[in-house]
Amino acid sequence: MTHSVCKRCGGGFWESEKGAREEDLCDECEGKPAPNQAARRSVEVFDIPSGLGGSHTVEIVGELQGGKVRLRVWYGRATATGWEPWKDWDGYRFDADRAELKNKRTMPLFK
Ligand SMILES: [Zn+2]
Repeated sequence: MTHSVCKRCGGGFWESEKGAREEDLCDECEGKPAPNQAARRSVEVFDIPSGLGGSHTVEIVGELQGGKVRLRVWYGRATATGWEPWKDWDGYRFDADRAELKNKRTMPLFK
């Protein structure tokens, strides 16, 4: 797996190897027409326990059955030119119970 940055929204994502996808687009952007507006300025996020003593900042990217949601980790920092993803975690996806999500807030992607 290799970490790439989405050319459209600036979010990090994982692909099997560099250039595996025709376009360097994340799961959310791939297969969708380009939005009229530019990259998102902010994202609605939550905290969820990481199981390692800390927490992950996550965005809900999908609704699943049984009260579960698919989450995308935001790990990096906002800069003047947009989100700067830090490797290893940014763009990581996993499923969890919605009830585990805490501290809903809007996180700016630009400084
Ligand atoms: Zn994207």
